Amino acid sequence: MASPADLTARSALSRLCTRCSVSLSRQSRAANGFAQTPKHQQRPLSTTSSRTRRLAPLSPLVVTNAASKHLAAGASRLSISTTSRALHEHDPFKFDPYYGNPYATPILSQDNLFHPFSSSPIRAIRERAWFIKRHSSCPHPDHAPGGSQLPKHSEFECPDCGVPLYCSKEHWADDYERHLEVCDILRQINEDDHDLHSGRYFAEFEYAGVQLDEALVNFSSWDTFLYTREFKAINSERSMRQATRILTYPITIGSILHELSPYNIKAGGRLTVEGLKSFSALRYNLHPPKNGGGPSIKDLRVRPPPVRIFVLGARAESSLPRDAWIQIAHLFPLCDIHLIFIGPEAMLNRKEKIPPRTPENPFGMVVEDQLWPGFKISTIADYYHTIHKTGYFYPYDPYFDCFVLFHPGLGHPASSHHWAETLPYLLETKAPIIVTGYTEEDMQRDINWVNEQASGEFDLLLEPGENTFRSLRWDLNDMDPLDISAGNWGVWAFRGKRYEATRKDA
Ligand SMILES: [Zn+2]
Ligand SMILES: [Zn+2]
Repeated sequence: MASPADLTARSALSRLCTRCSVSLSRQSRAANGFAQTPKHQQRPLSTTSSRTRRLAPLSPLVVTNAASKHLAAGASRLSISTTSRALHEHDPFKFDPYYGNPYATPILSQDNLFHPFSSSPIRAIRERAWFIKRHSSCPHPDHAPGGSQLPKHSEFECPDCGVPLYCSKEHWADDYERHLEVCDILRQINEDDHDLHSGRYFAEFEYAGVQLDEALVNFSSWDTFLYTREFKAINSERSMRQATRILTYPITIGSILHELSPYNIKAGGRLTVEGLKSFSALRYNLHPPKNGGGPSIKDLRVRPPPVRIFVLGARAESSLPRDAWIQIAHLFPLCDIHLIFIGPEAMLNRKEKIPPRTPENPFGMVVEDQLWPGFKISTIADYYHTIHKTGYFYPYDPYFDCFVLFHPGLGHPASSHHWAETLPYLLETKAPIIVTGYTEEDMQRDINWVNEQASGEFDLLLEPGENTFRSLRWDLNDMDPLDISAGNWGVWAFRGKRYEATRKDA
């Protein structure tokens, strides 16, 4: 069992910016001499493999336009964008709910999910309250620079959403109108957090299997997607939020690469002409014609090389349940896919040991090749630019390769220097680069940074905008609870500019 100090440290770490948390977790390992065992390894076996690891909380199923406007307004006015990196990339693992047994009685029933954080029946949530109170500041204007009071921590919990936000009841009451803009969303976050700890059976984490040949997947929205993919157990808004929190990672990739993608070159379809060329090249291999191949000797056919999807700066996404990632294989059943997670934090939260670096495996790559026929996941805990320089994955081919960066923080002051070295190599490959952001501000900051670094050297493939397959669950930043965001909220794509031969006529 982990000691209370371990639990507190882990709970605190899981809320920090992952960049800071890496060094802290190293310190904590050094201090107690061993790495902490994730709780899910201490638990008895769960009933199916698809329930071995879970993502955390969600929020409103469908956030109405009005609510998202409030959020946007709240975010731009109240949040300090420099903290927006301190989000919940490993929340999925921090909450570590009891995944449930269909016959067990839940600890919390569905009509008993709201509890103020600091008096929650769930210890992990009380610890979260403790963390928020010590790290966030009262947003009342009196504490602003030049105001009448010095900054104070958030001690007072709003009775309606149960999140510690203000230093006192007086400041909460005085700022109530502004708080109303986000109170509903915060309450939903509160209930969704408690839901994950409720001990109920999470049927929404049963993933759909093989897609029938004759049934087309409809990518117009989460609803049509889940329906046409035959996800059967997602029948409430809360289940939808919990499920999309995980599925947003594979389906964001699938929805852009698939031939039935919701993004197109019609007006408002966001795909650019260069984007159509680029993604068509990949689709040529992702959707090959049927060739009559089969398992018997006479049906053997030459298989083209796998399409490689490089997920760079990988963190929590590398430890998502494998059944979630296999959803990509179900979307492209006729081609082989190799998913490659690369990033110094890619092995965080993973139970495998990093193999020693040898001449055959120079980067200590962890390979999982028995997940699904034709689908393989490899993980390398190193910087992409280090690997690129050695030519390990050469040659790159825009017909077979693409890059995905989930919330990379390209323009974030804490991480942009890491990306500065990577970007030129990515552009050099001419393969598409898909990028997501937590919020509009987060995404725009990345776009501005790419513009500064590589002005004129790249083509936009997908115009920035809200991601059809974003997480429907909202999260709050424990360092600043008014900084609210959703996983993969926005998405855009670009690639290194191609200079085509042109005729020089007189
Ligand atoms: Zn105050
Ligand atoms: Zn409230």
